[in-house]
Amino acid sequence: MHQSARDVKRAGKSIAFVPTMGFLHEGHLSLIREARRLADIVVVSMFVNPTQFGPGEDFEAYPRDPARDSELAENEDTDILFIPEKQDLYPPGYETYIIQENLPGHLCGISRPGHFTGVMTIVAKLFNIIKPHYAVFGEKDFQQLAVIRKMVSDLNFDVKIIGSPTVRETDGLAMSSRNKYLSSGQRSSALTLYRALCDAKEMTAKGETRADALIDAAVQTISAAPETSIDYVKICDPDTLEDVAVIDRPVLMGLAVKVGRTRLIDNTILQPGSRG
Ligand code: AMP
Repeated sequence: MHQSARDVKRAGKSIAFVPTMGFLHEGHLSLIREARRLADIVVVSMFVNPTQFGPGEDFEAYPRDPARDSELAENEDTDILFIPEKQDLYPPGYETYIIQENLPGHLCGISRPGHFTGVMTIVAKLFNIIKPHYAVFGEKDFQQLAVIRKMVSDLNFDVKIIGSPTVRETDGLAMSSRNKYLSSGQRSSALTLYRALCDAKEMTAKGETRADALIDAAVQTISAAPETSIDYVKICDPDTLEDVAVIDRPVLMGLAVKVGRTRLIDNTILQPGSRG
Protein backbone atom coordinates (compact mmCIF):
# COMPACT_ATOMS: atom_id res chain seq x y z
CA MET A 1 0.00 0.00 0.00
CA HIS A 2 2.88 2.37 0.84
CA GLN A 3 4.41 1.64 -2.58
CA SER A 4 1.10 2.08 -4.45
CA ALA A 5 0.41 5.37 -2.68
CA ARG A 6 3.89 6.61 -3.55
CA ASP A 7 3.41 5.61 -7.22
CA VAL A 8 0.04 7.36 -7.40
CA LYS A 9 1.50 10.55 -5.94
CA ARG A 10 4.54 10.42 -8.22
CA ALA A 11 2.15 10.26 -11.19
CA GLY A 12 0.65 13.55 -9.95
CA LYS A 13 -2.69 11.98 -9.03
CA SER A 14 -4.87 12.68 -6.01
CA ILE A 15 -6.17 10.06 -3.54
CA ALA A 16 -9.53 9.98 -1.75
CA PHE A 17 -9.79 7.44 1.06
CA VAL A 18 -12.80 5.73 2.66
CA PRO A 19 -12.03 3.78 5.84
CA THR A 20 -14.56 1.08 6.74
CA MET A 21 -14.90 -2.04 8.84
CA GLY A 22 -16.39 -3.88 5.87
CA PHE A 23 -19.80 -5.57 5.57
CA LEU A 24 -20.62 -2.77 3.15
CA HIS A 25 -24.07 -1.24 2.72
CA GLU A 26 -25.47 1.76 0.82
CA GLY A 27 -24.08 4.14 3.48
CA HIS A 28 -20.54 2.99 2.75
CA LEU A 29 -21.20 3.04 -1.00
CA SER A 30 -22.36 6.67 -0.79
CA LEU A 31 -18.99 7.55 0.79
CA ILE A 32 -17.17 5.72 -2.01
CA ARG A 33 -19.19 7.68 -4.60
CA GLU A 34 -18.28 10.93 -2.84
CA ALA A 35 -14.60 9.86 -2.89
CA ARG A 36 -14.94 9.07 -6.62
CA ARG A 37 -16.11 12.66 -7.23
CA LEU A 38 -13.22 14.12 -5.22
CA ALA A 39 -10.05 12.50 -6.53
CA ASP A 40 -8.33 10.48 -9.26
CA ILE A 41 -7.75 7.40 -7.17
CA VAL A 42 -10.18 5.92 -4.64
CA VAL A 43 -8.81 3.76 -1.84
CA VAL A 44 -11.22 1.82 0.41
CA SER A 45 -9.94 0.01 3.48
CA MET A 46 -11.76 -2.81 5.22
CA PHE A 47 -10.48 -3.67 8.66
CA VAL A 48 -12.37 -4.61 11.79
CA ASN A 49 -10.16 -2.65 14.14
CA PRO A 50 -9.73 -4.52 17.44
CA THR A 51 -8.48 -1.47 19.39
CA GLN A 52 -11.81 0.37 19.08
CA PHE A 53 -13.82 -2.46 20.66
CA GLY A 54 -14.07 -2.72 24.43
CA PRO A 55 -14.16 -5.93 26.47
CA GLY A 56 -17.52 -7.65 26.00
CA GLU A 57 -18.28 -5.74 22.78
CA ASP A 58 -18.89 -7.43 19.42
CA PHE A 59 -15.37 -7.60 17.91
CA GLU A 60 -15.52 -11.37 17.34
CA ALA A 61 -19.15 -11.37 16.19
CA TYR A 62 -18.84 -8.31 13.93
CA PRO A 63 -20.23 -9.34 10.51
CA ARG A 64 -17.65 -10.05 7.83
CA ASP A 65 -18.08 -10.87 4.13
CA PRO A 66 -14.91 -9.84 2.25
CA ALA A 67 -15.92 -11.52 -1.04
CA ARG A 68 -19.22 -9.62 -1.27
CA ASP A 69 -17.54 -6.42 -0.06
CA SER A 70 -14.89 -6.64 -2.79
CA GLU A 71 -17.56 -7.00 -5.45
CA LEU A 72 -19.57 -4.05 -4.10
CA ALA A 73 -16.47 -1.83 -3.87
CA GLU A 74 -15.38 -2.79 -7.39
CA ASN A 75 -18.86 -1.97 -8.73
CA GLU A 76 -18.35 1.57 -7.39
CA ASP A 77 -15.09 1.89 -9.31
CA THR A 78 -12.80 1.58 -6.31
CA ASP A 79 -9.18 1.65 -7.49
CA ILE A 80 -7.49 0.11 -4.47
CA LEU A 81 -9.07 -2.09 -1.84
CA PHE A 82 -6.82 -2.27 1.22
CA ILE A 83 -7.55 -5.23 3.50
CA PRO A 84 -4.78 -5.45 6.09
CA GLU A 85 -4.43 -8.23 8.64
CA LYS A 86 -4.50 -7.57 12.35
CA GLN A 87 -0.88 -8.70 12.77
CA ASP A 88 0.26 -6.25 10.08
CA LEU A 89 -1.17 -3.24 11.87
CA TYR A 90 -0.76 -4.37 15.47
CA PRO A 91 2.20 -6.75 15.60
CA PRO A 92 3.26 -8.12 19.00
CA GLY A 93 4.80 -5.32 21.04
CA TYR A 94 2.64 -2.58 19.51
CA GLU A 95 2.34 0.23 22.07
CA THR A 96 1.51 3.63 20.53
CA TYR A 97 -1.95 5.21 20.81
CA ILE A 98 -3.51 8.64 20.27
CA ILE A 99 -5.32 10.44 23.07
CA GLN A 100 -7.64 13.43 22.73
CA GLU A 101 -8.60 15.33 25.83
CA ASN A 102 -12.17 16.59 25.48
CA LEU A 103 -14.35 15.38 22.60
CA PRO A 104 -14.10 11.67 23.55
CA GLY A 105 -15.43 12.53 27.02
CA HIS A 106 -18.97 12.99 25.67
CA LEU A 107 -21.77 10.90 24.10
CA CYS A 108 -20.50 7.45 23.02
CA GLY A 109 -17.12 7.98 24.68
CA ILE A 110 -18.73 7.76 28.12
CA SER A 111 -20.06 4.22 27.73
CA ARG A 112 -17.22 3.17 25.39
CA PRO A 113 -14.03 4.30 27.16
CA GLY A 114 -11.01 3.93 24.89
CA HIS A 115 -13.16 3.62 21.77
CA PHE A 116 -12.06 6.92 20.24
CA THR A 117 -8.42 6.28 21.09
CA GLY A 118 -8.76 3.09 19.04
CA VAL A 119 -10.50 4.98 16.22
CA MET A 120 -7.94 7.81 16.11
CA THR A 121 -5.03 5.40 16.26
CA ILE A 122 -6.22 3.25 13.35
CA VAL A 123 -7.21 6.28 11.25
CA ALA A 124 -3.83 7.95 11.86
CA LYS A 125 -2.05 4.72 10.90
CA LEU A 126 -4.15 4.38 7.73
CA PHE A 127 -3.50 8.04 6.84
CA ASN A 128 0.24 7.40 7.16
CA ILE A 129 0.04 4.29 5.01
CA ILE A 130 -2.32 5.63 2.32
CA LYS A 131 -1.31 9.33 2.34
CA PRO A 132 -4.72 10.51 1.06
CA HIS A 133 -5.55 14.06 -0.02
CA TYR A 134 -9.17 13.51 1.09
CA ALA A 135 -10.82 11.15 3.56
CA VAL A 136 -14.59 10.66 3.65
CA PHE A 137 -16.50 9.85 6.85
CA GLY A 138 -20.22 9.43 7.54
CA GLU A 139 -22.16 11.96 9.60
CA LYS A 140 -23.99 9.01 11.12
CA ASP A 141 -20.96 8.61 13.40
CA PHE A 142 -21.05 12.30 14.25
CA GLN A 143 -18.72 12.16 17.23
CA GLN A 144 -16.19 10.11 15.27
CA LEU A 145 -16.19 12.76 12.53
CA ALA A 146 -15.69 15.52 15.11
CA VAL A 147 -12.86 13.61 16.84
CA ILE A 148 -11.10 12.91 13.52
CA ARG A 149 -11.41 16.54 12.37
CA LYS A 150 -9.86 17.68 15.65
CA MET A 151 -7.06 15.08 15.45
CA VAL A 152 -6.24 16.14 11.88
CA SER A 153 -6.13 19.78 12.90
CA ASP A 154 -4.17 19.22 16.13
CA LEU A 155 -1.63 16.82 14.61
CA ASN A 156 -1.22 18.71 11.29
CA PHE A 157 -2.26 15.85 9.03
CA ASP A 158 -2.22 17.04 5.42
CA VAL A 159 -5.65 15.61 4.55
CA LYS A 160 -9.04 17.22 3.96
CA ILE A 161 -11.82 15.55 5.95
CA ILE A 162 -15.18 15.34 4.19
CA GLY A 163 -18.43 14.57 6.06
CA SER A 164 -21.14 12.74 4.13
CA PRO A 165 -24.88 12.56 5.01
CA THR A 166 -26.48 9.55 6.70
CA VAL A 167 -28.06 7.05 4.33
CA ARG A 168 -31.30 5.51 5.62
CA GLU A 169 -33.55 2.58 4.79
CA THR A 170 -36.82 3.69 3.14
CA ASP A 171 -38.55 3.69 6.55
CA GLY A 172 -35.86 5.92 8.08
CA LEU A 173 -33.64 3.46 9.98
CA ALA A 174 -30.02 4.58 9.61
CA MET A 175 -28.08 1.95 7.70
CA SER A 176 -25.54 0.09 9.81
CA SER A 177 -23.64 -3.17 9.52
CA ARG A 178 -25.04 -3.96 12.98
CA ASN A 179 -28.67 -3.86 11.71
CA LYS A 180 -27.99 -7.43 10.63
CA TYR A 181 -28.15 -8.49 14.31
CA LEU A 182 -31.80 -7.32 14.69
CA SER A 183 -34.76 -9.71 14.75
CA SER A 184 -37.88 -8.42 12.99
CA GLY A 185 -39.42 -7.30 16.29
CA GLN A 186 -36.21 -5.53 17.25
CA ARG A 187 -36.09 -3.95 13.79
CA SER A 188 -39.47 -2.26 14.53
CA SER A 189 -38.23 -1.09 17.93
CA ALA A 190 -35.10 0.30 16.27
CA LEU A 191 -37.28 2.60 14.17
CA THR A 192 -38.09 4.61 17.29
CA LEU A 193 -34.60 6.17 17.12
CA TYR A 194 -35.47 7.85 13.82
CA ARG A 195 -39.00 8.65 14.97
CA ALA A 196 -37.68 10.35 18.11
CA LEU A 197 -35.30 12.48 16.04
CA CYS A 198 -38.06 13.46 13.59
CA ASP A 199 -40.40 14.39 16.45
CA ALA A 200 -37.68 16.57 18.00
CA LYS A 201 -37.07 18.28 14.66
CA GLU A 202 -40.76 18.98 14.32
CA MET A 203 -41.08 20.28 17.89
CA THR A 204 -38.10 22.65 17.48
CA ALA A 205 -39.39 23.85 14.11
CA LYS A 206 -42.67 24.70 15.88
CA GLY A 207 -40.85 26.75 18.49
CA GLU A 208 -39.84 24.40 21.34
CA THR A 209 -36.50 25.65 22.65
CA ARG A 210 -36.10 23.59 25.84
CA ALA A 211 -33.67 20.71 25.38
CA ASP A 212 -35.18 18.95 28.43
CA ALA A 213 -38.64 18.83 26.85
CA LEU A 214 -37.25 17.41 23.62
CA ILE A 215 -35.14 14.83 25.42
CA ASP A 216 -38.08 13.74 27.62
CA ALA A 217 -40.28 13.24 24.55
CA ALA A 218 -37.56 11.19 22.81
CA VAL A 219 -36.96 9.05 25.90
CA GLN A 220 -40.70 8.30 26.11
CA THR A 221 -40.96 7.36 22.44
CA ILE A 222 -37.96 5.06 22.57
CA SER A 223 -38.60 3.43 25.92
CA ALA A 224 -42.20 2.59 24.95
CA ALA A 225 -40.83 0.14 22.35
CA PRO A 226 -39.99 -3.42 23.43
CA GLU A 227 -36.37 -4.44 24.10
CA THR A 228 -34.97 -0.91 24.08
CA SER A 229 -32.50 0.36 26.64
CA ILE A 230 -31.28 3.93 26.29
CA ASP A 231 -27.58 4.67 26.66
CA TYR A 232 -28.03 8.41 26.08
CA VAL A 233 -30.25 11.01 24.45
CA LYS A 234 -28.37 14.30 24.28
CA ILE A 235 -28.69 17.73 22.78
CA CYS A 236 -25.33 19.38 22.42
CA ASP A 237 -23.14 21.85 20.61
CA PRO A 238 -22.05 20.27 17.31
CA ASP A 239 -18.46 21.51 17.72
CA THR A 240 -17.69 20.98 21.41
CA LEU A 241 -20.33 18.27 22.11
CA GLU A 242 -21.10 20.11 25.39
CA ASP A 243 -24.75 19.92 26.52
CA VAL A 244 -27.03 22.72 25.39
CA ALA A 245 -30.09 23.69 27.47
CA VAL A 246 -31.77 26.20 25.16
CA ILE A 247 -31.98 25.77 21.44
CA ASP A 248 -31.14 29.19 20.06
CA ARG A 249 -28.90 27.98 17.18
CA PRO A 250 -28.45 24.74 15.25
CA VAL A 251 -27.59 21.96 17.72
CA LEU A 252 -26.89 18.26 17.54
CA MET A 253 -29.36 15.73 18.91
CA GLY A 254 -27.58 12.41 19.30
CA LEU A 255 -28.77 9.13 20.71
CA ALA A 256 -27.49 5.67 21.46
CA VAL A 257 -29.88 2.84 22.27
CA LYS A 258 -29.46 -0.85 22.81
CA VAL A 259 -32.14 -2.84 21.04
CA GLY A 260 -31.80 -6.31 22.45
CA ARG A 261 -28.03 -6.66 22.57
CA THR A 262 -27.39 -4.44 19.54
CA ARG A 263 -26.16 -0.92 20.21
CA LEU A 264 -27.46 1.56 17.63
CA ILE A 265 -26.68 5.27 17.21
CA ASP A 266 -28.28 8.07 15.24
CA ASN A 267 -28.31 11.86 15.19
CA THR A 268 -29.72 14.93 13.52
CA ILE A 269 -29.23 18.68 13.55
CA LEU A 270 -32.09 20.61 15.17
CA GLN A 271 -32.75 24.06 13.75
CA PRO A 272 -34.58 26.55 15.98
CA GLY A 273 -37.90 27.63 14.51
CA SER A 274 -40.15 30.59 15.21
CA ARG A 275 -42.81 30.15 17.89
CA GLY A 276 -46.44 30.27 16.77
P1 AMP B 1 -18.08 1.42 9.70
O1 AMP B 1 -17.78 0.37 8.67
O2 AMP B 1 -19.37 1.22 10.41
O3 AMP B 1 -16.90 1.70 10.60
O4 AMP B 1 -18.30 2.76 8.87
C1 AMP B 1 -17.37 3.22 7.94
C2 AMP B 1 -17.77 4.60 7.49
O5 AMP B 1 -19.08 4.56 6.93
C3 AMP B 1 -17.83 5.62 8.63
O6 AMP B 1 -17.32 6.86 8.18
C4 AMP B 1 -19.30 5.71 8.93
O7 AMP B 1 -19.69 6.94 9.49
C5 AMP B 1 -19.89 5.54 7.55
N1 AMP B 1 -21.29 5.09 7.63
C6 AMP B 1 -21.78 4.05 8.34
N2 AMP B 1 -23.13 3.97 8.21
C7 AMP B 1 -23.48 5.02 7.40
C8 AMP B 1 -24.73 5.49 6.89
N3 AMP B 1 -25.89 4.89 7.18
N4 AMP B 1 -24.71 6.58 6.09
C9 AMP B 1 -23.55 7.22 5.78
N5 AMP B 1 -22.33 6.80 6.23
C10 AMP B 1 -22.31 5.73 7.02
